[in-house]
Amino acid sequence: MADRDGFIWFDGKLVPWREAQIHVLTHSLHYGLSVFEGERAYKTDKGPAIFRLKEHTDRLFNSAHIYRMAMPYTREQITEACCDVVRANKLDSCYIRPIAFYGSEKMGVSPKGAATHVAIAAWPWGAYLGEDGLQKGIRVKTSSYARHHVNVTMARAKFAATYANSILANMEATQDGYDEALLLDVDGFVAEGAGENLFIVKDGAIYEPEIASALVGITRATIISLARDMGLEVKSKRLTRDDIYIADEAFFTGTAAEVTPVRELDNRTIGAGTRGPITEELQKRYFDVVYGRNEKYEHWLTRV
Ligand code: PMP
Repeated sequence: MADRDGFIWFDGKLVPWREAQIHVLTHSLHYGLSVFEGERAYKTDKGPAIFRLKEHTDRLFNSAHIYRMAMPYTREQITEACCDVVRANKLDSCYIRPIAFYGSEKMGVSPKGAATHVAIAAWPWGAYLGEDGLQKGIRVKTSSYARHHVNVTMARAKFAATYANSILANMEATQDGYDEALLLDVDGFVAEGAGENLFIVKDGAIYEPEIASALVGITRATIISLARDMGLEVKSKRLTRDDIYIADEAFFTGTAAEVTPVRELDNRTIGAGTRGPITEELQKRYFDVVYGRNEKYEHWLTRV
C-alpha cells in the first residue's frame, strides 16, 4: 500500500503518498491506541459522494473522546479534508480511512507528552467479502475467540487494539476455509462479525443482536431505516448462535462489507442457503441510496 501515486492528508496538508511516513517508535504502533474510521464514496450522477460523512466524523471524535485523545482539528476540518483527499486523488468510488494516532514524541504506556497526528488516505476498494459473496452469500464460522467484554475495551470506540481480536477470529475462520468469523460475547450471545454487524430475518421480521460489545455500525443504522421503509419490524434482542442456524435469512453490514448475505453458519445452511429475498431487497435499496438514486436520503451524501 505504501508504494503508490497519489496524496494523503497528513497533519493538515496533502503530501505525496510515498512521503506519508512515521517513525518506528510511534506510540500507537507499540501500545495499540489509534482511533480510525472506514468510509466509502460512491460515484453518483452528480459526482462522487461520501456516504454518511457526518456520522463517520462524529464517531471518530467520539472514539477520541472515549480515549481522551485530544484532536488537533475540528470536525469541519476533518470533513473537508476527507473531501480534499478524494478530489486530490481523482477518485470516484473509493474507501476512505481517517486515522488519529499518537506519534513518536515519547515511549511508555502513558500517552502524556505524545502528540495526536491525523492522516486520511483514500483508494479504490471493491467488495470486501467478494463480488460473489454479495451475490450468493458467504460461509461463516463462529469463532473460538470471544468479543471483548464491554469493561475490557470500549466498544463504542472504533480503535486499533480491538482489531487484534478481529484478526484472531478472521484468521481462524479463513484458514479453515470460511469467508468470515462470527464473534460471540463473553456470555455466549451473538455480538458481531470480525468487521461487520449481523442481522437475521425470521418470519418476516428483522432482528439484530443487542448492541453491547459490538460496534455501533453506521451501515447498520442505514439498514434499520431502509427496513422500516419496507414496513418491516426491526427488533434488538439477545441472539444465540442457533437463532442464526434457524433464521430464514442472515446478512452482515459494514461500510466495507456493505450488505453481504450469510448463507451458512457453522456448516448449517441458513434458509435456502442463498441470498434471501429480503436481504436482496435491502441490498438493492442500500445501493440505490449510496449511489444517489433515492432522494429521501440525499442528505446522507456529501458531494466532494
Ligand atoms: N463491527 C466492526 C468490528 C467493524 O469493524 C465494522 C466496520 N467499521 C462494523 C461493525 C460496521 O460498522 P460500519 O457500518 O459503521 O462500517
